[in-house]
Amino acid sequence: MLRTHTCGELRIEHVSQEVTLCGWVARIRDKGGMMWIDLRDRYGITQLILEEGITSPELLKKARALNRECVIQARGMVAERLSKNDKIATGDIEIKVNEITLLNAAKLPPFLIEDETDGGDDLRMKYRYLDLRRDIVRKNLELRHQMAIEIRNYLNSLNFIEVETPVLIKSTPEGARDFVVPSRMNPGQFYALPQSPQTFKQLLMVSGFDRYFQIVKCFRDEDLRADRQPEFTQIDCEMSFVTQDDILQTFEGLIRHLFKKIKNIELPPFQRMTYEDAMTYYGTDKPDIRFEMKFTNLTNIAKGKGFQIFDQAEVILGICAKGCANYTRKQLDELTEWVKRPQIGAKGMVYVRCEADGTFKSSVDKFYSQDDLKTWVEAMHAAPGDLLLILSGKDSDTRKQLSELRLEMGSRLGLRNKNHYSAHWVVDFPLLEWNEEEKRWFAMHHPFTSPKPEDIELLSTAPGKVRANAYDMVINGVEVGGGSIRIHNKELQALMFKTLGFSDEEARAQFSFIMDAFEYGAPPHGGLAFGFDRLCALFGGSDSIRDFIAFPKNNAGRDVMIDSPSFISEAQLKELNIKIDLQ
Ligand code: ASP
Repeated sequence: MLRTHTCGELRIEHVSQEVTLCGWVARIRDKGGMMWIDLRDRYGITQLILEEGITSPELLKKARALNRECVIQARGMVAERLSKNDKIATGDIEIKVNEITLLNAAKLPPFLIEDETDGGDDLRMKYRYLDLRRDIVRKNLELRHQMAIEIRNYLNSLNFIEVETPVLIKSTPEGARDFVVPSRMNPGQFYALPQSPQTFKQLLMVSGFDRYFQIVKCFRDEDLRADRQPEFTQIDCEMSFVTQDDILQTFEGLIRHLFKKIKNIELPPFQRMTYEDAMTYYGTDKPDIRFEMKFTNLTNIAKGKGFQIFDQAEVILGICAKGCANYTRKQLDELTEWVKRPQIGAKGMVYVRCEADGTFKSSVDKFYSQDDLKTWVEAMHAAPGDLLLILSGKDSDTRKQLSELRLEMGSRLGLRNKNHYSAHWVVDFPLLEWNEEEKRWFAMHHPFTSPKPEDIELLSTAPGKVRANAYDMVINGVEVGGGSIRIHNKELQALMFKTLGFSDEEARAQFSFIMDAFEYGAPPHGGLAFGFDRLCALFGGSDSIRDFIAFPKNNAGRDVMIDSPSFISEAQLKELNIKIDLQ
């Protein structure tokens, strides 16, 4: 090897040893008589020292010709430093250099390769390979690696086997939009890239594999929202001969294992909350339960007093912000503007301050007496010093808006500490959701999810009421994974396709392979998938999954480094039988 040690390895006990290091020149300080070079590699930084009078003039000259980011090999003796640096692991020593070999020159990088860089997002994406030299970016990928190893360890110890499923598959109409790949050998025909290995893992269960997992790339051609990537990674899992409870236990175990191994945090057993409760008390299917602030329904007690907005509302919901009665008029106006922003979309907000003297001050004093307000305060278990924030309108809109306001208040009150983790399951999701545009039912999870057996008879009479054996894992308000018990019976699967508006022919054309497989002994099975990028971001204490992907796409779905997507040549198009008409 070209080196004896790494740049993160040498300590006081190595003093007097002759060593050879390799790395990138991170910084040069030349004080005339003395010269220091910070040499960087993946493992850390080691200081090299050259001294006029001790170092040979040729070597000094050579060192002075170096610039940042060139790659060198340096040989020398480890020495104790006069002024130690306790900020880096090698801060007790330096290398008295007696030989330097320039392994490769480097142009000056377009931004500083330091934790605090002067490079903007776009520039760093274009030169991602340089960005990845930065400590904080590299550490994210090291965390990702460590997580992947621990996931494999845990699942392997439980007899799961990792099986690769194909990437060139078939487009299906459910779910998000597919990315497609033209087939040269089959003119006019296309493969699709998998949105998930869902059907393949179910087929593996029919094959008897019993416990499958895969850390796998998935592709969805969705309109990009902040922090979505067109390709992302799932920890995809499936098990046979299990109940929902077995799956929840197994994968709660996986997440607890990760917290223990990676962060040395012992998570308590996860709470389980029904979808209905999540929507009732938090207005979302992924509540952040690091803090309470549950919704109270005031519809029955606040209507009928002549306040038009409430009287006409489908629902009136409030939250109690503890200790916030001292909010000034200005702060309340600002909060009202906040809920009225288009992203939130509320029409207005009503507040009630619970004053220290036991009286109430509200924005609707004209319509409600102190006694009226007292009934609200009691319903919300508020105390003097608290502030009630109330929204009203259409049920689903109001829940969404209040859920956003709840999170905002949680943040403002410092109740959403990044280093405090609260994990739980949301269970009993509805099987179907109505799509007003297409005027038909869609599977809320996917068409292979099993209804709860006791709800099956509702499929023909009240499809919206059917609950599924489907579950999501939520950590700190982030949905990190989800899955379901699957249908494993051909008739029930056919009924499900029918409910989703497929004719028999359409269902056969799309899914005959799985319907056929169900005729050859499909075991009861179920599973789930975690969003691996998101899980890494959560463990890394970041909101951005991009920071945990080596070569991510930007918000427009482009890789600006390799400049993709891009046009292809006429010849390639012709070979693929594709004509492009780009007006
Ligand atoms: N394939 C599902 C998804 O991508 C997860 C599952 O049901 O296992 O969301």
